[in-house]
Amino acid sequence: MMNSMELAGVGMTSQRTRERLINRLTDQGITHQGVLDVIRMTPRHIFLDEALAHKAYEDTALPIGYSQTLSQPYIVARMTEILLSLGPLDKVLEIGTGSGYQATILAQLVTQVHTVERIEPLLLKAKQRFRKLGLNNIQANLSDGSFGWKKQAPYNGIIATAAPQSIPESLLHQLAPNGILVIPVGNGNEQTLSVVKRIANTDEFDQKTIEKVKFVPLLSGLAR
Ligand code: SAH
Repeated sequence: MMNSMELAGVGMTSQRTRERLINRLTDQGITHQGVLDVIRMTPRHIFLDEALAHKAYEDTALPIGYSQTLSQPYIVARMTEILLSLGPLDKVLEIGTGSGYQATILAQLVTQVHTVERIEPLLLKAKQRFRKLGLNNIQANLSDGSFGWKKQAPYNGIIATAAPQSIPESLLHQLAPNGILVIPVGNGNEQTLSVVKRIANTDEFDQKTIEKVKFVPLLSGLAR
């Protein structure tokens, strides 16, 4: 575990700075109290290199190495809020572990999180963070998430934090009845956040688009 000073943060990572972020998220229309509380309590600065830690509570995406980014807090909040919009979730799959921040937020709101990443060094660092934070309901795996993670399916919720050109069929099939998928879809310049719900015990899906977003692309295969 980390010592409490390290987790609490000082100066630009202090509680007051975090409170400003929460106000900003509320101003932007985030209403889910559980999501806001968890973002307030979670030390985002430990998901970044020390040189960037002072920016951790700004509402902006930040680099985490390997050309990848930790998503903007607003979009983390928005996607999490949508994922939870049908009520509490038992089992969730995240595609694109990255720094582990999104998975850490989810782990405090759902029963079990499964997360997959294709870049091994990022995965290893994320796992270290889960341990430091004492989160033991996250299973993180090195794999290509374009096909979901069949072994652990079905999921009540699936969230992708990298954008495919179109929604992979396998993700739809790994949704439990009434399961929900939140995913950015499109190419590098233009993506829309899509939400797909599986209708009860059918193979039918209800899809809608929410807003324009900008994510790194979902790539195939493991990085080498
Ligand atoms: N959720 C992350 C965001 C990281 S950016 C966070 O909170 O920090 C998106 C991540 O998706 C990157 O780490 C990238 O390597 C990963 N990714 C891209 N394509 C992937 C794929 N096919 N399978 C698994 N991970 C993928």
